[in-house]
Amino acid sequence: MKGGDNRLLVLERVTKAYGKTPRQCLALSGVGLEVRDGEFVCLLGPSGCGKSTLLRIITGLIQPSSGNVLYRSQQFSGVNPYTTIVFQTFALYPWLTVEQNVELALKARGMQAAARRRRALELIDMVGLDGFESAFPRELSGGMRQKVGFARAMAVEPELLCLDEPFSALDVLSAEALRGELMELWTSKSIPTRAILMVTHNIEEAALMADRIVVMGKNPGHVVAEIPITLRHPRHRKDTAFQALTDKVYAAVTGKRDVAEPSGRRQALPRARLNAVAGLLEKVAAEGGRADLYRLSQELAADLGDILPVVEAAEKLGFLTVEEGDLLITRLGEAYAEAKILARKELLAGRALRLPLIAWVYETLQQDDDGRVAKEYFVDGLQCDFGERAEEQVNTAIQWGRAAELFDYDMDRDELFIED
Ligand code: ADP
Ligand code: MG
Repeated sequence: MKGGDNRLLVLERVTKAYGKTPRQCLALSGVGLEVRDGEFVCLLGPSGCGKSTLLRIITGLIQPSSGNVLYRSQQFSGVNPYTTIVFQTFALYPWLTVEQNVELALKARGMQAAARRRRALELIDMVGLDGFESAFPRELSGGMRQKVGFARAMAVEPELLCLDEPFSALDVLSAEALRGELMELWTSKSIPTRAILMVTHNIEEAALMADRIVVMGKNPGHVVAEIPITLRHPRHRKDTAFQALTDKVYAAVTGKRDVAEPSGRRQALPRARLNAVAGLLEKVAAEGGRADLYRLSQELAADLGDILPVVEAAEKLGFLTVEEGDLLITRLGEAYAEAKILARKELLAGRALRLPLIAWVYETLQQDDDGRVAKEYFVDGLQCDFGERAEEQVNTAIQWGRAAELFDYDMDRDELFIED
């Protein structure tokens, strides 16, 4: 689709280097991005991939080193008057009341006092702060202060509203409430804003809110993938479609492919126990997300047995990557290491089903009338791929299936089974 006229924002080959030539740091390289009228776009990526830099370039707070930034086909040399940015923690003037803080933005637009007051009260009401007009920032919770920030951004009536991790400094409940209010304002079209560009590092938040997710990677910052979202609002975390979507986003963020090849059964499962994987992830997480593989294998040999299959298993599940002899925990691995047991099982089930061999066992059991199939059947099925190691593969599959609570093994009848 070449909708030239409904594109508000177009970035072409944007590059940004910080610092002076010999010690330059390349924050962004060759970034292309479009935001169309009516769209809510989320920028998602690891810390340091240049998300904030990109927003600052878009709003004109800083200039790119090269490339073009076009707003309605026009290039601005300074701050773009059609955009506003809301930061993670919004700076309010502590000596001004809520109302005065909001009015300030209106004053800057040259509005007369009476109209200003009326509009400020409307905006304060709109973000759910009525009753707090004359409160001072110090009297407000973090969530409420952020609402004042939103009201102030809305006062400018930006066409393009840029949000830089607007909820990440808030506690879970305030964040959830404020998200809901923003979505309400946006989907009911009660604000003149034509498009929203929001930076987040929270996959679920992006999937809940956006029409499109742009995934970025780092070193230097670049666009990795774009994922359109067509699910209707309001979206629910428990919906299967929503979970399939977040899986897809996780896959893009961790750089794993999310489709199993039909012939993928050939890929052997590493011979590792999954509780060893959990142990490894906890260890790497405790070391700040990066650990030297060689040193770790010496420290953990006693606990984990042979560490390499464990690393391979963690890698196959998308929890770790290996880079120049270092183990790097992925966002997903972090989530797993921090999760409670129940959440771990769920996470594990989703990931294990991406492995063709596990998926094949699971689907075979699903398709069976009573959900029970002889172990023999699976061993036979893997014979030509694995020969003598076929049974060992089935045993590993059983162990993983159990840990993820996908299926189980009945020793007495020598059958694999699923509970309905
Ligand atoms: P993100 O918002 O995705 O975490 P940033 O845009 O803040 O990423 O930063 C991208 C890269 O640019 C990082 O490596 C960061 O250290 C560097 N960087 C950001 N701002 C500056 C600055 N003002 N001077 C030098 N380097 C910077
Ligand atoms: Mg940032």
